[in-house]
Amino acid sequence: MFTNRYHARQVLIHGIVMAIQITFLGASQQVTGSRYLLEAGGLKLLIDCGMFQEREFLGRNWDDPPFDPATLDAVVLTHAHLDHVGTLPRLVEQGFNKPVLATEPTVELATLIMLDSGRIQEEDAKYKLKRHRKKGHKGPHPVVPLYTVEQAQRTVPLLKGYKYDTPLTLNENVSVTFIEAGHILGSASLLFDIQDEGKNRKLVFSGDIGQHNKPLIRDPAKIDTAEIVVMESTYGDRNHKDAGPVDKQLERIINETYKRGGNVVIPTFAIERAQELMYYISELAYADKIPDIPVFMDSPMAVDATEIFKRYRGYMDDETMAMFDKHEPPLRFPGLTLVRNVEESKAINTRTSPSIIMSSSGMCTAGRIKHHLKNNITDSRNTILFVGFQAFGTLGRRLVEGTKEVRIHGEHWPVKAKVEQIHGFSGHGDQEDLLNWLSEMDPMPQRLFLTHGEMDGAKVLEGIVHKRWPHMNIKIPAYQHSVEL
Ligand SMILES: [Zn+2]
Repeated sequence: MFTNRYHARQVLIHGIVMAIQITFLGASQQVTGSRYLLEAGGLKLLIDCGMFQEREFLGRNWDDPPFDPATLDAVVLTHAHLDHVGTLPRLVEQGFNKPVLATEPTVELATLIMLDSGRIQEEDAKYKLKRHRKKGHKGPHPVVPLYTVEQAQRTVPLLKGYKYDTPLTLNENVSVTFIEAGHILGSASLLFDIQDEGKNRKLVFSGDIGQHNKPLIRDPAKIDTAEIVVMESTYGDRNHKDAGPVDKQLERIINETYKRGGNVVIPTFAIERAQELMYYISELAYADKIPDIPVFMDSPMAVDATEIFKRYRGYMDDETMAMFDKHEPPLRFPGLTLVRNVEESKAINTRTSPSIIMSSSGMCTAGRIKHHLKNNITDSRNTILFVGFQAFGTLGRRLVEGTKEVRIHGEHWPVKAKVEQIHGFSGHGDQEDLLNWLSEMDPMPQRLFLTHGEMDGAKVLEGIVHKRWPHMNIKIPAYQHSVEL
C-alpha cells in the first residue's frame, strides 16, 4: 500500500521496528538521483545517494531530505556513477557520519567522481555568480557550490570497500550481499536478507543492470530469488541489439577519416566508456584493421580511472583476463598516449598527421574536449564521433542534430567536420536484458518496483511484466512515496 506520509505507522515489538519500509527519494518516474530509504530489522539505511541531473529536478539536490541524515546507520552504494553517489558530500554536510558500504572498485571510482564533481560545482558557482552580477540577476537558489572539493574530501574516509558475493552482516537482523550488475567496474545489485518476525525475507535493489557481452567487465550475475525487487527501467521500452557491432562501425569511421587525412575526435565519458573505447581500438590495432596512428586519451579523470581499471583486473571478464595473459593488455597498446598535463594536451593540436583524440566531457559541456573541437571542427577532413547519449541542451546534442555553426568559448565556429554517432555502447541493458535478469529468479518476486526510468518506458515494461507474470504486484513509485511491506 502506498502512503504519502513519510512517517508511516510502524509496528514496534520489543523496541524493534518490524516490517520493511522503503521510501523512494529519487529515480522515481524519472532517471537520475537514485536514492531509497530502507527501514528494516531495526536499521535505517540509505541505498545510493545520487545527484539529480534532469534540468527540471535540479532543485531537489538542494532540498533537505525528509529524514535526519544523522539518524542513518549506513549508506549502501550500487555503483560509482554521479546519479548514484553525487550528493554524498552534501549528506555528510547535513550530519551523516556513518560508513558508506560499497564494492572495492566503487570506493575508488566514487572518490574520483565526488572530487571531480566538487571541482565542477565550485567552478559552476563561480561562473554563475559572475554572470548574475553582470546582469543584476538573482536565481531561486543561493549561488554557492552544492558542495566543495574539501567537502568531497571529508566524505572519502567514510567509504568502505567489500567483495562481491560475501554476505555482510549489518546487525542481528540484516545482511547485504553485493552481486555483479555488469554495468560499470564495481557495479552491484544489493541483496538484503532480513529477519522479520522470525521469517527470512529477501529484498533486491537491482542498481543499474548492464548489457551482456560488454568488453572488460563481467556480465550481470543471476540472483536466485527475492520476495521484493526494486528494478531499474531505463530502457524498459527499447531493444538496442540491432545497431550493429560497435567494433565494425568504429573500424569504418577510423579508416574513412584516415583516408581523408583527418583526425577522429571522440568526446567520451571518463569512466567505463573511455576504457571501453580503448579496448575496442586496441583490438582493431592488434588485428591490423586500422592504420598505425597515434591515439590520445586526453582526460586526467579518464587516465585516473584507467589506472583503477588496471588495478582491478581480477574484476574483469574472462576475455579481458585472457588478453592480459597474452600480453596484449587491453588498456595499453603501441601508439596510445595517456595525457595528463595541459602542455601535452595543447601539443596534440600542433600535430599535422592523422590521429585519434579521445577527451571529455562526453557531452562537450566542459573540459578539454572543447579545445579539441575548436581545433578540428572547421576542417572537413576530420570526424567528430559521438559514442554516448547526448542530453537535450548540450553542445553534443546540437552537433548530433546537425547544427551548421557552434559557439565554443564565446566564439562562433562553422561545423565542417563530419559528425558521426555510434549507437550500441550503452551501459544499460535493454528491455530483453531486464526481463532476462528478472526471469532468472525462481520463485519469482511477489512485489516489483520499477524505478530509474522515464514514465513511458517504465509503463511499457510494467505491461510486459504483468502479461508474463500476472500474479506479480508491480508499481512505479512516485517521488517521496513510502511503502510498507
Ligand atoms: Zn549508472
